[in-house]
Amino acid sequence: MAYIREIITEGHPTLRKVAKKVDPAEIADPMFQQLLDDMFETMYDAPGIGLAAPQVGVSKRIFTVDLQDDDDAHGPLVMINPKFTLTEGEVEATEGCLSVPGMVGEVTRFEHVVCTALDRHGKKTTYDANGWFARCLQHEMDHLDGVLYIDKVKNLRAAMTEEEVAEAEAVAAGTR
Ligand code: ZN
Repeated sequence: MAYIREIITEGHPTLRKVAKKVDPAEIADPMFQQLLDDMFETMYDAPGIGLAAPQVGVSKRIFTVDLQDDDDAHGPLVMINPKFTLTEGEVEATEGCLSVPGMVGEVTRFEHVVCTALDRHGKKTTYDANGWFARCLQHEMDHLDGVLYIDKVKNLRAAMTEEEVAEAEAVAAGTR
């Protein structure tokens, strides 16, 4: 059974902490697995395409991702103690964040990243990511370092026009 946890929002000190590395011995613990299940439940309910543990008040280096598209490579994924081993290119796009509700803005990110992390079974896995998948990994990785997209955004604004609301919702739902 998975439970929806409360997503904390900007201003909560936990969002600004550098999250702690997970001890791999902890991964098999049922309480840890419950946290992962709850994170997926919370992410799908929001809805969002990525959720970092600090967003549910747990300051550990974990995030979940599911772009919810047709490509199995894009999720559902659990990334524990993730690290980028390659970053290249540059691309700007509109982003939102479940912890900064109702806002959007343009953020420049790497176009291509390679990320290594432990999966929910503690197995080391490498992900080669482009486009929205790469953007999502960078956004979630920032959460583990206490960084929010509003720290690097251009033209932060309330999602006001119909077009922007649609865009913010599309980003959150991963439909683009
Ligand atoms: Zn976020």
